[in-house]
Amino acid sequence: MRLENLTKHYPGAPLPAVDGVTMDINAGELVVLVGPSGCGKSTCLRMINRLIEPTSGRISIDGEDVTDIDPVGLRRKIGYAIQASGLFPHMTVAENIAQVPRMVGWSKKKVKNRVEEMLDLVGLDPREFHSRYPRQLSGGQQQRVGVARALAADPPVLLMDEPFGAVDPITRDHLQDELIRLQRELHKTIVFVTHDFDEAIKLGDRIAVLREQSHIAQFDTPEAILTN
Ligand code: ADP
Ligand code: ADP
Repeated sequence: MRLENLTKHYPGAPLPAVDGVTMDINAGELVVLVGPSGCGKSTCLRMINRLIEPTSGRISIDGEDVTDIDPVGLRRKIGYAIQASGLFPHMTVAENIAQVPRMVGWSKKKVKNRVEEMLDLVGLDPREFHSRYPRQLSGGQQQRVGVARALAADPPVLLMDEPFGAVDPITRDHLQDELIRLQRELHKTIVFVTHDFDEAIKLGDRIAVLREQSHIAQFDTPEAILTN
């Protein structure tokens, strides 16, 4: 994935939220964007999956400009997990996980199997959780379902915006370990956003340390960042 001179200036804001970010992310790499609240991390992710349009600059995935990918193609390519888990409250766990695979045209049978597989993957017993509603889950369980939902259509790219922000430290540690295992097994390209430096160091193959307006202070391996 390549971000090229990416800029977002929200209408009416005195300064751009993101000002000229250029970054190359390798396929299969887990890159963490770490920086203080308000430095533009979420804005970067939301531009990558086209929830918002950049003011200027370009984003390409496997050499293809994201503006050339249709909305369904984009859902197929990019999974998205957010802090609030992003679950639809009126849908069961199974319906939430099934939503994107259905949207991109998977068969009923394939979707059904996939839902079970995803629940197993994030450590939730399908028999127990399949038919529950999000409000019937703990915060940590909701976040697991959010991750399962993001992975369900097997996208090569995963964008994660503080996905473990709302869980207790022990569950968080466990989910972090699961994410590391997942990425080793599934070789996803992951862009992970956090304001927690320790989380960045634990998870990142490389870490982009961001200042205001997403100016990149450092972009390197955890080892290199810790010795600098
Ligand atoms: P972070 O994810 O690093 O906390 P954000 O990308 O959410 O940062 O926000 C970056 C800046 O852009 C902040 O100053 C925020 O107030 C502003 N901002 C975010 N979303 C909007 C919006 N929809 N309209 C106007 N300003 C916004
Ligand atoms: P919010 O209202 O919290 O800002 P968003 O607009 O970011 O929520 O997203 C709305 C819903 O769409 C969320 O459930 C999110 O998980 C889902 N979503 C957004 N983009 C994608 C994507 N590329 N792939 C899968 N789901 C997505």
